[in-house]
Amino acid sequence: MVSGSIVKKSFAIARQCIVMALLGASCIIISLLIERAVFQTSNQSATKRLVEAYVLTNQILLADERLTLSANMAASTGEERWIKRYQKNVPVIDQAIARALKLAPLDVAKRFDQETRLSNDKLIALEDASFDALRAGDKDKAREILSSPSYSEHKVILVNGTSRFVDNMVAALKGNLEMTRTQSRLLLFGIILISCVGGYILVWRINNSLHQTEDAFLKAENKIRFLANNDVLTGMANRFSLQQTLKEALQEAKHNNTKLAVLMVDLDCFKLINDRYGHGLGDLVLKEAAERMGQILDKGEFYARYGGDEFVIIVEFKDGEQTAPNISKQLIESLSQVMTFDDISVQIGASIGIAYYPEHASSEPEIMRKADLALYRSKENGRSQYQVYDHSMDEDLNDRTLLESELKDAIDNDEIVPFFQPIICLETGRIKGFEILSRWQHPTRGLLSPVKFIPLTESIGCSGELAISVLRQACRGADMIPGDCFIAINIAPQDIQDEWFVEKILKVLQETGFPPHRLEVELTENALISDLTAAKKIIRSLKNIGVDIALDDFGTGYSSLYYLSELTFDKLKIDRSFVSSMHNRVESAKIIQSIIGLGKSLDIPTVAEGIETEQEAKVLRDMGCPDGQGFLYSKPVPMDQVSGVIDRLGFEPEQALSA
Ligand code: C2E
Ligand code: MG
Ligand code: MG
Repeated sequence: MVSGSIVKKSFAIARQCIVMALLGASCIIISLLIERAVFQTSNQSATKRLVEAYVLTNQILLADERLTLSANMAASTGEERWIKRYQKNVPVIDQAIARALKLAPLDVAKRFDQETRLSNDKLIALEDASFDALRAGDKDKAREILSSPSYSEHKVILVNGTSRFVDNMVAALKGNLEMTRTQSRLLLFGIILISCVGGYILVWRINNSLHQTEDAFLKAENKIRFLANNDVLTGMANRFSLQQTLKEALQEAKHNNTKLAVLMVDLDCFKLINDRYGHGLGDLVLKEAAERMGQILDKGEFYARYGGDEFVIIVEFKDGEQTAPNISKQLIESLSQVMTFDDISVQIGASIGIAYYPEHASSEPEIMRKADLALYRSKENGRSQYQVYDHSMDEDLNDRTLLESELKDAIDNDEIVPFFQPIICLETGRIKGFEILSRWQHPTRGLLSPVKFIPLTESIGCSGELAISVLRQACRGADMIPGDCFIAINIAPQDIQDEWFVEKILKVLQETGFPPHRLEVELTENALISDLTAAKKIIRSLKNIGVDIALDDFGTGYSSLYYLSELTFDKLKIDRSFVSSMHNRVESAKIIQSIIGLGKSLDIPTVAEGIETEQEAKVLRDMGCPDGQGFLYSKPVPMDQVSGVIDRLGFEPEQALSA
């Protein structure tokens, strides 16, 4: 947009320049032509008038000579024909004088008229008198009149006046001509001056516009460069800029024989906030996170937004080996502080992976890959921590990749089997139901925990198949589970997106004859947050067929109370992290107490997870928690050991009633 308008502006200026230059050139040419034309015309007309003036004065003088001659001849000869000739010439001279007067400038004509009119009239009067004398037969008198001093005097006045008239007229016409020339030169000079001033203004304006365009171009160039190298939302450097800078930093470190660290930072729970509050708030969180990072990274470390909620920092070993871990600690601390936007407060966290040059990698892609692996380990280990890369991470990756490739077949071949962990009535210590927990009986690696493979099922999109497979196996082997005992399966956030998921469950129940009212589905808050609408739909459908819903790991997710108000649950499972820490952390005990209280007030039974000691069981009992599960009672056991667990713990008879 910006550059487009600048290009348009430049073209407009170029067009303006061309038009103005053409206009200026045309003005000068036209003014020269006008000047030439005006001068030529004036010159021609002045010359013409001058020639005409000469001709007319000659005519006047000649006609006058003729009149004088005719008059004298008439007086000498007394012949009438000279008088006639004289009379014939009178209009000629009159006309010539009239034309000369018309032609002459006014003042010249006026002066000529003043000087000669009297003498001319006098001469004509004398000549008429001499003709009268002649006609009366008095030749002598006629001659006398014509040779009288008065006649000669007027004659001289007339001739001289006429000559002066000619001279004056020539002088006046020449003056006019000179004036015209001066005027046309002045005109030309004026036009050239105006053109020059116009040209100067034009050049000044174009220069100004060019400066403005240059400024705009520079601004646009800077903006383009900024956009090419920076993230628009946070203003941080972007991925492209990071690649360049990291490459250069590695070269420099190699050259100077120094070390550097690459920190890959990932915001914890960002996706949840984005999904829960929308992208607008997500953007604000990212901006705030970027700002907090900037406050910590004020020692000149380069940092960039690498992806959605991932950031990369290049750290030089300014304060020795501990520089990167120290920065990581500060970042985690700062990013874990509550963020408040108007009336919404959210809390994220940060997981960080660190890789070193030259210890771990020497190239840009390799060091990034290793920092990413370390980040993965941080997240896997429970988030809000940093991990430094080590070789076992690569082994883990290979392991994961291998497991991923085997996983689908493993599900199809029932290598992933259900283990059963009893859920106990804390008051009586007897079994109310069983939670189904998957285990992979790997042909070469032995029994694998779900922590190893559940995330892989989610990443390759087969968590639903796994849940259905495990449910089918559990239902098929449920004969040894007493008729009023429930079983609970776990489903992944992705599973709620599958619109056929409930039908698939129903099909398994029909196939195996397991009654829906004895089935419970455990959902985590993450599943709800990822798509609340889909979660609502699936919960409604499951409830319609008689399946109960438990909210798993309650208290560890986000905005739990909101979901409690939006959805109806049949059970709240208190996460084991609270139970295991309730003796050390008074807050955990308080949280457990609150969840139990909340459950009571909403009439939702609570189940405490991870009870390992009798002491924990007692405290929970005293707090009023009705149910629990944990190693105290039994670890998850394979199907063939379920009967043994039932025999050992006994079976809660009220189950039959509540079922
Ligand atoms: P969960 O649903 O919260 O299951 C409880 C976990 O706590 C189980 O871990 C169980 O073995 C463990 N646990 C129970 N009591 C104690 C105790 O007293 N001490 C200790 N330290 N741990 C105890 P497990 O079996 O490793 O499962 C981990 C998680 O994997 C489960 O957490 C569940 O979220 C997930 N999961 C397991 N099977 C499946 C499955 O088939 N599908 C899906 N989507 N997730 C599954
Ligand atoms: Mg569970
Ligand atoms: Mg749980």
